[in-house]
Amino acid sequence: MNIEQIYKDSGALLSGHFILSSGNHSPNYLQSAKVLEDPKRAELLATALADMIKSSGIKIDTVCAPALGGVIAGYELARALGVRSIFVERKEGKMELRRGFEVAKGENILICEDIITTGGSALEASDIIESLGANVVGFAALANRGFCKREGTQNSPKPECKLPTNKPLFALADFEFEIYEPSNCPLCKEGSTAIKPGSRGN
Ligand code: ZN
Repeated sequence: MNIEQIYKDSGALLSGHFILSSGNHSPNYLQSAKVLEDPKRAELLATALADMIKSSGIKIDTVCAPALGGVIAGYELARALGVRSIFVERKEGKMELRRGFEVAKGENILICEDIITTGGSALEASDIIESLGANVVGFAALANRGFCKREGTQNSPKPECKLPTNKPLFALADFEFEIYEPSNCPLCKEGSTAIKPGSRGN
């Protein structure tokens, strides 16, 4: 399966001149929600990710996603794995398990995101789940921005990666983009203006 082509075809992999959430500029941007707007495509991707996870032999009882970004990916992955789906969400900046969701002591939980950049939200989700007595057995995402090491590659995690190195990260593909500091951005030097896709239309 050509993951990059699927992202391109769905309008999720953008080319141009973008401001990343870090404030740096890049000629590429992943608009992850776009790849999930077609439920059939979401199912296809989640099934491929589930197959990868199943072949690892890790036992999973429940998939937990950090809201909002991870919710659809987490739900589809849980469906493909045949397990329960829950999510954690921020309340006044702090990640919490709400809405009547519960986890049992010793329950095996996989944290799922749509995309792992540095893994900050996934780590916060993991911390809250573990504080409730459940086991976080690993992390999953449809796409990995290449800061963290995904299973099946020999890459080393970059210093920006916040995920624990003793737990696996399952992802379908690495998307490593050129990143420029705004003061040293060749696209800016050519005279183009960077845009922030996430806030377009707001
Ligand atoms: Zn620029």
